[in-house]
Amino acid sequence: MNSWQALGTVEVAGSQGERLDLWRNRRLWYMAESSYLIDGFENRPGAHPWQGEHLGKWLHAATLAWLTTRDEKLRAELERNVERLLATQLPDGYLGTYAPEATFVARPENSPQAKPHDDVDVRTTGQKPRPGWDVWTHRYNLYGLLTYEAVFPNPRVVDACRRMADLLIEVYGGDGADLTKYGTRRGISATTLLESIVMLYERTEDAKYLEFAEHIVGRMEASPGLRLMSTMRSGGSVVGPGDGKGYQLMANLLGYLRLYLCTGKREYLDTAINGWTEIRNNHILVTGGPWTRWMPYNANRECFARTGDFDPWEVKVEGCCDATWMQLCLHLFELTGESAYLDAAEVTLYNSLHGHQHADGVRWCYFTSPNEARPDYSDRITCCASSMPRGMEMIAGHLVGEIDGNLSISTLAPCTVALGEAFGGGTLVVESDFPDDPATEVRFQVESPGTYTCEFRLPAGTALSQVRVNGASTEVTVNERGFHELRRRWGSGDVLAIDAEFELNLHVQDGERGQQWVAFTRGPIALAQQVSAIPDEEPFDGRRPDEALGMLAESADGSFRIDGMGVTLMPYHLTCSDDSGPKTYFRCGR
Ligand SMILES: [Zn+2]
Repeated sequence: MNSWQALGTVEVAGSQGERLDLWRNRRLWYMAESSYLIDGFENRPGAHPWQGEHLGKWLHAATLAWLTTRDEKLRAELERNVERLLATQLPDGYLGTYAPEATFVARPENSPQAKPHDDVDVRTTGQKPRPGWDVWTHRYNLYGLLTYEAVFPNPRVVDACRRMADLLIEVYGGDGADLTKYGTRRGISATTLLESIVMLYERTEDAKYLEFAEHIVGRMEASPGLRLMSTMRSGGSVVGPGDGKGYQLMANLLGYLRLYLCTGKREYLDTAINGWTEIRNNHILVTGGPWTRWMPYNANRECFARTGDFDPWEVKVEGCCDATWMQLCLHLFELTGESAYLDAAEVTLYNSLHGHQHADGVRWCYFTSPNEARPDYSDRITCCASSMPRGMEMIAGHLVGEIDGNLSISTLAPCTVALGEAFGGGTLVVESDFPDDPATEVRFQVESPGTYTCEFRLPAGTALSQVRVNGASTEVTVNERGFHELRRRWGSGDVLAIDAEFELNLHVQDGERGQQWVAFTRGPIALAQQVSAIPDEEPFDGRRPDEALGMLAESADGSFRIDGMGVTLMPYHLTCSDDSGPKTYFRCGR
């Protein structure tokens, strides 16, 4: 059903590879060695309302890591965790971390006595954890286990997933309890279950799971505070459904997209595409981070806010939003092969997500802000620190692929990918200093030559100078999906050279009280000033936005100076450290 099929990544080098290794060698094992992953299941009740999500998220990211590393130690660790999780499933299928009186079976809908634990109030101490996240845990168990099982087939895992889903259907199916009345934010946390249930349908082809998925959609549409599909289809805003809760809203869009793949019903696809477009147009920073802000109309800093409420010192990027946005981009890319989706995911990876990750490989930020003096890195086990490696691993599996018989190179980042038989076997090696420089050489190390179209994607904000094959300049055309392509006979030793340049671009952002802000990108990389306190000076005060670009001068080291202001701009993610942060947006005008 997907039209773009990934070829197997053998190695990721460069800065993307270094960042992946920080996760694979440090955080992955930090998590595995923590008893927190499995404790909530083995010693119920768990200590935290959504403690149960971490194991499913870890299984997802670590399974994808294994696909590249083939590390036997990791394989054993995956199996050990799956077996321990399965061993805690109750006879009725329950596989959460709650005490019997607090499970979704015992309390399927919220009541005043069972006020759900708020999704931001994570540091509350000395308070008995309240329920509301039990369905959420099952959503992540299903996701993690089904991802694992797709790589390591095991009928017992599928059976465990069926039993979880059957219990959920027993409680929430048909005339049962209303899933949208469970948990926080008008039920939008609980309805993220949609995607996982569709995954189980894909695996089992059992119609009752598809029926339950569409039943969840029906419940959402019947719930006035949710109605995500009708809102997106009528061109509405993501500020609204489910309080506009960013992470969960995008996770629901993932469910609609997957449901489209199984049903072919256009309304589900429109929901996902319209949602993606609305978020991209109105809620994404130049860093690729989906921004949110606590306002009276949403009452939570992890909820989408209106453009007129933008202030770069106040808005937040939740790490889970980065990861889920990337997932949405990547799945839409798989379906359509359109470069715009991958452009967006790549910007998020190289800026916002890498800014969240500390160089020690263990600590992550829950929130970042585009303007902040000190990002809050922590080794705590949080939703965000468990989500972001999933985004990194997913994009690392989408580097080179096949679409309509074309060899499709979707990155300029240095990497090695195994070519399938259709492309003559062997490997394809991408060599570059991306993202410092877009100039790239692609080396074909094929076992047997063949004639086919090779296409490649240029990153956002990148202009092609020329393409050379084995040194000779060659014509390329841009196809309808935004890829550059050329058809020839490819043989071993062939070198495709892509000469390109990053453009310096100005971005104007409207904000609170009519204030305008400007930000700059070089190619796909957001630029920022490194600050350790809120600076007194605003270099563009009194200037029009269109004057700002002309005030930038490039230095020999590739950074930019703002004329006469003593301000240097560098890649955003490099400004993020223990004692400094980025100033990405600059005030303009009055
Ligand atoms: Zn989070």
